[in-house]
Amino acid sequence: MKKGHEERRERMVASQIEDRGVKDRKVLGAMRNVARHMFVPENMESYAYQDEPLPIGQGQTISQPYIVAYMTEVLQLKGDERVLEVGTGSGYQAAILAKIVKEVFTVEIIEELSIQAQKVLEKLGYENIHFKISDGTQGWKEYAPYDAIMVTAAPAKVPKALQEQLKIQGRLVIPVGSTFQELVLVTREKKKFKKKKLLPVRFVPLISAH
Ligand code: SAH
Repeated sequence: MKKGHEERRERMVASQIEDRGVKDRKVLGAMRNVARHMFVPENMESYAYQDEPLPIGQGQTISQPYIVAYMTEVLQLKGDERVLEVGTGSGYQAAILAKIVKEVFTVEIIEELSIQAQKVLEKLGYENIHFKISDGTQGWKEYAPYDAIMVTAAPAKVPKALQEQLKIQGRLVIPVGSTFQELVLVTREKKKFKKKKLLPVRFVPLISAH
């Protein structure tokens, strides 16, 4: 059974991720390393390495593996960074980030999802992921500024508070839009924020607490 998952994961990385152009060795290593099937509901385990997003309960989804890899690569991580993630969900993306960087701060608005993710990540032995249950639109001010920020749910426009929690030269990757969404990369240059559109995507909406 274990062997089966490893083989499926290897095939997933080769055919869905490398073949589509993701080259960053750190990202590929993390995608090979993290057991994605541990992050999906039990009845979804056999689909864990397929080329699609999957439901994780509470109307939420774990992103398609390629999108997880692509968004991680866009952040150009070297290894010594502190990264903020908005939308913990299953905890899978947080695990991928935690394999690459020093410290991951992840915020989730739905308590049940955060608690479930915390259980899985603790069981797997991660010690560099910090959790917060709150509205991630406001970021996590206490530990700001961050080298990089990743948002895994889509707002109508880039939240100001998140931009402000970026270091100079920091990078923020975020899906933006209501009906049609695009993945946007925001780079901070002192007081200015440079925006670049990357590709069309579909994410669950970022829930606003206000
Ligand atoms: N990164 C996740 C993907 C989760 S889907 C993973 O790897 O599984 C997006 C998540 O964002 C959902 O869990 C949803 O509850 C959460 N979310 C939506 N609005 C939010 C908000 N305002 N603040 C924090 N999390 C939010």
